[in-house]
Formats: sequence, structure tokens, C-alpha cells
Amino acid sequence: MLDVRAVTKNFGRHTAVQDLSFTVRPGAVTGFLGPNGAGKSTTMRIAVGLTRPDSGRILINGLPYDRLAAPLHEAGVLLDARAVHPRRSAYQHLAVLATTHGIPLRRVDEVLGLVGLSGVAGRRPGGFSLGMSQRLGIAAALLGDPGVVILDEPVNGLDPEGIRWVRTLLRSLAAEGRTVFLSSHLMSEMEMTADRLIVIGRGRLVADVTMAELTAGH
Ligand code: ADP
Ligand code: ADP
Repeated sequence: MLDVRAVTKNFGRHTAVQDLSFTVRPGAVTGFLGPNGAGKSTTMRIAVGLTRPDSGRILINGLPYDRLAAPLHEAGVLLDARAVHPRRSAYQHLAVLATTHGIPLRRVDEVLGLVGLSGVAGRRPGGFSLGMSQRLGIAAALLGDPGVVILDEPVNGLDPEGIRWVRTLLRSLAAEGRTVFLSSHLMSEMEMTADRLIVIGRGRLVADVTMAELTAGH
């Protein structure tokens, strides 16, 4: 469960997120839709303690991220698939993260298999396609077997086959009772992946609807 409570974040005089409140529940794939600059990344960064809000807070299973006993186990996050160490292999990238957080290395092999990157584990992700980078980012997010999965634009740049692959993965995570929250600026991607939509524009909540409600209204 991810609980966004009255969050406001300003960058100088610019308001990125304004009095934003919503809840993301387990067992479904929830999409976070809004145009570029709407405040999606800022909200996700606040959720995992990388950005401090001016007011309000975001709780993961009832606690702020920095108070979680086992952060990677409770919340896995993909924020920027290209943000990887240039000289580490895909395996090393995950192994460093695992070791830092006390996760056994066999889990690295597991998540590499889960995202279909076992065959390229020894390669440096600098040479990966965007789709492969997204898979590696998703693997990192799933490393701790988290109950809450937060993915910023995970299908950005993927072809339809890649998007279908992500959809299948996200649906299985949700079916296991996890909270799955992914952002996109494209409604077409949301239609392919999400059960429910949180829509924001200019940092404010625009809609909080199920995909079924949305299509019934048209
Ligand atoms: P989205 O993820 O929906 O594209 P962001 O959360 O990245 O939106 O950005 C929301 C707004 O906040 C944008 O206008 C963006 O330019 C601004 N912003 C985001 N991060 C910073 C920052 N570190 N410094 C200044 N402005 C920022
Ligand atoms: P750096 O690589 O910049 O040293 P870390 O990898 O240590 O940063 O991560 C910084 C913070 O982000 C830590 O608090 C860590 O728990 C969190 N973090 C990093 N990757 C993930 C992830 N995949 N899932 C959840 N939290 C993560």
C-alpha cells in the first residue's frame, strides 16, 4: 500500500506537486498518468525518500520510506533505467545493490532470469538497448522481492512486444497481492498495462478511476 497524503513540492518558485493525495492499493496495477512535467517523477522520488516534500508525506505500508526496516524488501523502485555504473556488468550492478542490502546473491540470478537478461549478465549495460536497460532496472526494483513496486516510465521506448512482456510481469506481481504503481505520459501505454489510473496535471490530482469506469464513460 502506498499512501500519498497532501504532498506539496516546490522547486524555487515553481510548484511541481500541489496538495496531492491518493492511495495505491495492493492486488492491482495502478497507472500514474500525466504529461511530461506533471510531477510524476517528483512524487515517486518523494515516495522513496530521494526528494523531501515541502509539506505532506508519503507512507509505504504505513511508514515513511526512511523508517522502513528493510527498504528494498518493502518497496522496489525504478526511477531512471539509464542510471547505472558505466564499468559494472549487469550482474555486478545487481550484485552491489544486493550486497549493500543483505540480499543473497542467488536472488541476482533469479531476477536476471525473471527479466530475461541471464544471457547478457556479464555485459556492461552501457551498451544495452533502452528495452534491455528497462529490464535491468525492473530487475533491480524486484531484487528485494518487494511488496510495493514503483516504476517510473518502465515501458518508455519499448516496442509493443516489450510492453506486453512488462504487462504480463506486472499482472503477475499484482496477482501475488503486491502493490504495483507505474507512471507513463501515454494513455495508450496505460490502456495496455493498468487496471486503475491516477491522473495528474501540473502537480494536481485530475482523476482517480478504474480503467473500467473510464471506458464505460466513453
Ligand atoms: P514528470 O515526471 O511528470 O515528467 P517531474 O516530476 O519530473 O514530472 O517534474 C515536475 C516539474 O518539476 C517539472 O516542471 C520539472 O521541470 C520540475 N522539476 C523536477 N525536478 C526538478 C529539480 N530537481 N529542480 C527544479 N525543477 C524540477
Ligand atoms: P548510490 O548508487 O547512488 O550509492 P544506492 O544504490 O545506495 O545509491 O541507493 C540510494 C538509495 O536508494 C538507498 O536508500 C537505497 O535503499 C535506495 N534504492 C536504490 N535502488 C533501489 C531499488 N531498486 N529499490 C528500492 N530502493 C532502492
